[in-house]
Formats: sequence, structure tokens, C-alpha cells
Amino acid sequence: AVPLVVAISTAVSAKNGLLIRNRTAFENARKLTAIIFDKTGTLTKGEFGVTRFKSTLDNYSDNELLQIAASIENSSEHPIAAGIVRKAKANDLTLQEPENFQNITGKGIKANLKGQEIKIVSPGMLTEQGFDTPADAFKTEDETVVFVLIDNSLAGYIALADEIRPESLSAINTLKERGIKVYMATGDNQQVAKAVSQQLSLDNFYAEVLPEDKQRIIKELQEKGEFVAMTGDGVNDAPALAQANVGIAVGSGTDVAAETADIVLVNSNPKDIANLILFGAATYKKMM
Ligand code: ADP
Ligand code: MG
Repeated sequence: AVPLVVAISTAVSAKNGLLIRNRTAFENARKLTAIIFDKTGTLTKGEFGVTRFKSTLDNYSDNELLQIAASIENSSEHPIAAGIVRKAKANDLTLQEPENFQNITGKGIKANLKGQEIKIVSPGMLTEQGFDTPADAFKTEDETVVFVLIDNSLAGYIALADEIRPESLSAINTLKERGIKVYMATGDNQQVAKAVSQQLSLDNFYAEVLPEDKQRIIKELQEKGEFVAMTGDGVNDAPALAQANVGIAVGSGTDVAAETADIVLVNSNPKDIANLILFGAATYKKMM
């Protein structure tokens, strides 16, 4: 059995960390009919740059809004957070220390800063809280926009853009040529998801997905007879990774995601994932 694992490891470039935790599931690679990729950091680079930011309150300048947002994003590990903090530093803004930082799963973050409650949230959560989306918030279909609330007043927004990985298209085409349907699930907004899905000619996509939705999406596909692989990177992805016929934990990820997955890949490049699936399928076909 060892040479097979070695061979598979070699199929995926040697510099990439690869751990196969469940051989049975890896053998299942040949049975796959569908794969669901996560977007941020897998199909895209996961490197968000701030493209626009605006205060919608008279008593805060645009830079003051950015400074407040970056001060609390500094405690978050989301790629959006890294982009906002980077922009604040580029603008020479000094970050302050927040208190009671909390993730709002799949929707944003919140914390207290100098006696005020700050939330930074998705468009979906903004609407849920009863706010209208500012008319100029969405300008291009490939921007991710997050909204800043100060003491439950809408204070402004920050738009960011990520890039599709150059390897994604050919990896997806390879999988599709093998008859595997390629889907994407993302917590990001509908427009961004649609733009990425079109650029990559995906078979379908799921946008504004909460971590708990992912497990249900897989289950529904399985009930239709699909044999499903899924990639995930977060602690909240563990139930979905367990539900999938082949769960693939990607990126530096979290220990919890890695523990539930069948396959763990340090690099979240879809090309490695495609190679892994094809090589696994070919190897087991030969052995039959
Ligand atoms: P994905 O991994 O597909 O980007 P997430 O579940 O991580 O999805 O995030 C979903 C959405 O929640 C983001 O698009 C954003 O609107 C919001 N969000 C998550 N984390 C943050 C954060 N640190 N700051 C601002 N918004 C966030
Ligand atoms: Mg994520």
C-alpha cells in the first residue's frame, strides 16, 4: 500500500503538502460525479485588495471609517480582513485595540471599540438587519462589498476584489472532460459568485451560503444520485467535509477541518485537486 501513496504524492507536485487520511475515500475518486469547490482562496487567490471605501455618515471621514474597520478586522483571519488591514496601513492609519471580538459565522465580525459596537457584515446580513443597501455600494459585478455598522447605524462600506487563480480554468475543464460536474459554494454575494461561475464555465454555483448550508447542498446532490467531493477550509466546514463522499480540506485551514477530511492538501490549488482525483481514478482502474 505504501508505494501507492508515494505515487499519488508524486502526482501532486512534491512541494505541496498532501495527506491522505482515508484511503477508502481516496479510492472513491473514480466514482465521483460532482465536485463542489469553495471560492475564496481555492478557485480564487484569496488575496483581496480594497478597491473603494466610503463613509455614509457625516461625522466620519472615509479614512476614519477605514481605520475603525481595520482596527477590528485586525483580529479576523478572513482574507477580506487582511485586505482591509493592508489598505489602512498603506494609508498610514493607526489601528486601535478592539474588545470582545467575535465572528458572526458566514456573515461577518463584531467587536467593541472605544465604547462603540462595530459590526462588519455581508450584504445579506445588512438586509437581514433591515437596512437598505446604499445605492452606490455595488458598482462592478466582481467586487465583494462589506458594510460597517456603528452602534447599529449604517456607517459605510468597503469594496474589495479578489482574482481567479490562473490554474482554475484548465483544472475545471479537466474535471468536466471526465464527466465530473463542477460546482462552487461561497458565502460571498450573488453577483461575485455569478461572475466567477461564468468566467470558469461552472455547471452551477451556490452563493451567500452559510457553513451549515453546505452539508445540506451535498446531501441534496447525493439524494439525486451524485457522488460528491467537496473542498473546505474552515472549522465550520467540518460537517460538510464529513457528509461528502470525498472531503478535501485545503489551505492552512484549521485542525478541525483537517480532522474530518479524507484528504488534506496544504495548497488549495484546484490543479492539484484535479490531478489528485484523476490520478486516484486512473490508479484504481488499473488495479481492478
Ligand atoms: P467565503 O469563504 O466563500 O468567502 P465566508 O463564509 O468566509 O465565505 O464569508 C461569507 C461572507 O461573510 C463574506 O463574503 C463577507 O461578506 C462576510 N464576512 C466574513 N468574514 C468577514 C470579515 N472578517 N469581515 C467582513 N466580512 C466578513
Ligand atoms: Mg471561507
